[in-house]
Amino acid sequence: MTAPSAPRPPSTTASIAAAVMTTYHGQCACGQTKWDVKLEPDQAKHILCHCNTCKSLSGSTYTLNQIIPKSALTFTSGGESLKKYTYAGESGSPVHCYYCPNCTTHPYHHQTVMGDDKIVLRTGLLEGAEKFEPAAEIFGKVRWGWVKEVAETFETLPPE
Ligand SMILES: [Zn+2]
Ligand SMILES: [Zn+2]
Repeated sequence: MTAPSAPRPPSTTASIAAAVMTTYHGQCACGQTKWDVKLEPDQAKHILCHCNTCKSLSGSTYTLNQIIPKSALTFTSGGESLKKYTYAGESGSPVHCYYCPNCTTHPYHHQTVMGDDKIVLRTGLLEGAEKFEPAAEIFGKVRWGWVKEVAETFETLPPE
C-alpha cells in the first residue's frame, strides 16, 4: 500500500544554508575599547579553554572563546591603541594577545599557527554572552578537579 502524499517537513539543509549573521557588541572594563563582531548561529557559543595560560591571563579557572574569521571583528573605539602580549603556544608558534592598555581586558588573540585569517575571540565579553551555550571544552587534561564538565571535552585540542 502506498502512503498518501502528506506535507513534507521543512528541509534542514535549506535552513542550514540560510545561516544568518548576528552582530554582537563588546567592550572592555573601562569602556575605552569597543567592538562589534558578526557571528553565525553556530559561532554564538562558548568554547571553554582550561589551558594554564588562560588561567594565568584571566586569573580564573578557564576562559570563553570562539574561533572566527578576522574580518568578522571590527573595533569601533580604541582599536588602534590596543597593546600586544606574545607568548609561544602549544605548537611553539607565537600567540599574540591584544588587550586594552588602560584596563587590560583582552578582546581577542591571534594564534599564528592558525594562519592570518583566523582569530580567537573572547566570547564572554559580548553583550548577550550569558545566553550562549557551551559548545566544547579544550585542554580538559588540566581542568581543575572541582570544575564540572558542561560540554564535550578534549584532552587538548579537537582532532583536525
Ligand atoms: Zn579598557
Ligand atoms: Zn587557553
